[in-house]
Amino acid sequence: MDLKIYNTLTRNKEEFKSCENNLVKMYVCGPTVYNYISIGNARPIIVFDMVRNYLKYLGYDVIFVQNITDIEDKIINKAKQENVDFKVITDRYIKAFREDLERLEIGSIDRIPLATEMIDEIIDIIKKIIDNGYGYVSEGDVYFDVSEYKEYGKLSGQKIDEMKNAEDSSFNKDSNIDFTLWKSAKEGEPSWKSPWGYGRPGWHIECSAMSGKYLGFGFDIHGGGIDLIFPHHENEIAQSEAAFPDSGPFVRYWMHNGMIEVKDRKMSKSDGLKSEWILRNLLDSYSPNIIKFYMLATHYRSPLEFSSQKIQESQKAMEKIINTFQNLKFLIDKELTVKENEEDNGGKIIENESKINSIRESIVTDFKKYMSDDFNSAGAIGVLFDAIKGINSIIQSKEFIFRNESLNILSLFYEEAVRLFKILGINIEGELARRQHQDKDDSSTMVKEQIEEFIKQRNDARKSKDYRKSDEIREMLLKAGIILEDRKEGTVWKRQE
Ligand SMILES: [Zn+2]
Repeated sequence: MDLKIYNTLTRNKEEFKSCENNLVKMYVCGPTVYNYISIGNARPIIVFDMVRNYLKYLGYDVIFVQNITDIEDKIINKAKQENVDFKVITDRYIKAFREDLERLEIGSIDRIPLATEMIDEIIDIIKKIIDNGYGYVSEGDVYFDVSEYKEYGKLSGQKIDEMKNAEDSSFNKDSNIDFTLWKSAKEGEPSWKSPWGYGRPGWHIECSAMSGKYLGFGFDIHGGGIDLIFPHHENEIAQSEAAFPDSGPFVRYWMHNGMIEVKDRKMSKSDGLKSEWILRNLLDSYSPNIIKFYMLATHYRSPLEFSSQKIQESQKAMEKIINTFQNLKFLIDKELTVKENEEDNGGKIIENESKINSIRESIVTDFKKYMSDDFNSAGAIGVLFDAIKGINSIIQSKEFIFRNESLNILSLFYEEAVRLFKILGINIEGELARRQHQDKDDSSTMVKEQIEEFIKQRNDARKSKDYRKSDEIREMLLKAGIILEDRKEGTVWKRQE
């Protein structure tokens, strides 16, 4: 199945072909470190982790670079507010960002370069831009001359005459659409030595320099939020193609994720950073898998509504999935007393086994069908969700009798489903371990639905006179602090005092 990617540059879904046979080089714009990252910043991180994982699954090697902007006006302002050196601010939030990546269980980024580590490369590329006639120096600042780069606007689909000035207001520019490559030093601000005097890089140029350093010119995928298309990515293209005018396109596929919206509008910086939007605060309440599930259940290009209710809905859906995996694991691991040649009453065993097999085979095909269609993780999650529902109804049905072969088949389904979730970044085994750990720590975390599910399983086992299984469930609940009481009207439960 060929992979198709929606390319912002051509506004088309295109068949993906990497520059080098089996290698994909991708670059995604990272955060500016002047605060904790928000759920909005987490979206490209989760989306492009999924993109990278799926490319790996298709057999590509991937080099994935995501930068950190550690010199910028917002950082300098924050340092002024706190009356500290800018490094105090950046060190604090770089550390926090790395912690957040770890807590979110994102391990796919190969390099996370800092802009301030790249000053020599930045100066080099600015020199090339000037030498090629696309840049000019004005009172220690260096600007990009947009009028010289005829393809300006090709990514955002805008015409130069119609563009408004999206850059900072500076008085030294020839045209208000020209953008800054290098800013001359201001009193008390961090600066580096350059051929144009002391100063610091503009925001856009660092991405041209970093992607060039680690991926070379003309790489496969460049990603980021849709809000970066203009001016940031438009400017990256202009800079890189002006520096290397004979090397073809700077990037082959431009991918942009949609914005996160709160109450029908975009989550915006002007709202400030509300504490309920801060990723680490969300991670205190929800597992990374729930946050990823919430995000990937919507196509990456669509807007995504954020509210605590939306996250809780994802938590409930995830609960259902994990319950089924827990039941499956219980069946597979427990080596139940099954007869090798259990009498197949009316062919029911064979029928159920072939149902499980066909579900397993179709999830792989359907998962790939959706994911190869511009990484439609929402469709892929739907496939997994339906498959799990189907498996659950089979193993919960009264007439389902196990034999060793049935458990082997279930175990194959289990492994396949875990593998596909992992591509989405969702770690089922980690989630199961997390639940087990919580159950040990705090029995109250076993929710009512889970307990009732176990009681139902125990009653079914008793009906089919599988007393060993029914005792095991009772024991397991007792260990989790849940006491069962069998009464005439049914089984009731209470938490241990
Ligand atoms: Zn960038």
